[in-house]
Amino acid sequence: MSEKFTGSFTQQEALPEAAIEAAMTVMRHGRLHRYNVAEGELGETALLEQEFATQVGAKYCLAVASGGYAMATALRAVGVGHGDKVLTNAFTLAPVPGSIASVGAEPVFVGVTEDLTIDLADLATKADQAKVLMLSHMRGHLCDMDRLMQICDAAGITVIEDCAHTMGASWNGVASGRQGAVGCYSCQTYKHVNSGEGGLFVTDDAEIAARAIMLSGSYMLYERHLAAPGPEVFERVKYETPNISGRMDNLRAAILRPQLADLYAQVERWNARYQELEAGLRDTPGLTVVERPEAEIYVGSSIQFLLLDWSAEAVAEVISRCAKHGVELKWFGGAEPAGFTSRYDSWRYAEAQSLPKSDRILAGIVDMRVPLTFSLEDCAQIARIIRAEVSAVYQSG
Ligand SMILES: *Cc1c(COP(=O)(O)O)cnc(C)c1O
Repeated sequence: MSEKFTGSFTQQEALPEAAIEAAMTVMRHGRLHRYNVAEGELGETALLEQEFATQVGAKYCLAVASGGYAMATALRAVGVGHGDKVLTNAFTLAPVPGSIASVGAEPVFVGVTEDLTIDLADLATKADQAKVLMLSHMRGHLCDMDRLMQICDAAGITVIEDCAHTMGASWNGVASGRQGAVGCYSCQTYKHVNSGEGGLFVTDDAEIAARAIMLSGSYMLYERHLAAPGPEVFERVKYETPNISGRMDNLRAAILRPQLADLYAQVERWNARYQELEAGLRDTPGLTVVERPEAEIYVGSSIQFLLLDWSAEAVAEVISRCAKHGVELKWFGGAEPAGFTSRYDSWRYAEAQSLPKSDRILAGIVDMRVPLTFSLEDCAQIARIIRAEVSAVYQSG
């Protein structure tokens, strides 16, 4: 293979002009704090919340400082506290167990299947171990959400959804984040909308919404929200809910509103790239493509494939050969956490747990980011490189 890809795996697109204009307006008037509004003015943050609630069909929405903050706030708002156990995915990223640890609770890991979704059989077995599931739709793979909700409803488990990779996705027509009690989204640069940092929180439960707004640091100014429950709900929670500041500001909200309006067009662009990559990788000997279920509308902002039952050395060889050809792959099987990849056994603040079936799958997961700055030709070239290097290592092994 003599080809070399020269694009960047971490280069984002510029923000749309409408976002830049909106940011300039906020900077010119200087009212960046969400509650700093002129007489009669509706702040950018309150408008963002109202629009996102409508977009996903939720009653209530709160914009916050990060996706991780939204998740920790959700845990607090549903009543998780020190020493409680919380079920969560073994295959996910560090902010997920981190949100559980941040409220003094303890993660109980649930396994991953070859579809890269939560193992529902393992979940059913562990359903009596916790009252809350922090469900991570890791890398945008949605499990059978109907079955998951059946298991959790039957066991009295409250579901919080981590939709960092599923903003814009849906299961059987229901927007991701709308089956559980709370949906949490990230607006960080590497997710589906980009405000540098930021998070969104949606729910239909008035008390959960009121507690989350109080927690985020509303200084009793909750009446300035446009996607919040009525003041009578705040009367019930306001003296008992601590202020753990993590608000969004009007500058970030201003640049997010035009991006959310473009979200579904961006999803199509991501999926065209994803499908180009997938088609180029299909039928490579030794490589397993992750099939997507029909009920799922996904957002192909990253792609994964499996090198199942390969030796660690052979996987490492593929990664290094692809890197020489300009293709940056990440491996979830590495013993040491590197970049954004880590394994559940590297989160040592959690009690050690053993999931041998998942270990086999994690050891084979290779992951690649799909920035929108890649063209379809770039994606075809990247797939050719991966295919050639995987085949070469497979044949030699
Ligand atoms: C990015 C991410 C988060 C948290 O988002 P931040 O905004 O970075 O706090 C949560 N879960 C997953 C799976 C993520 O990738």
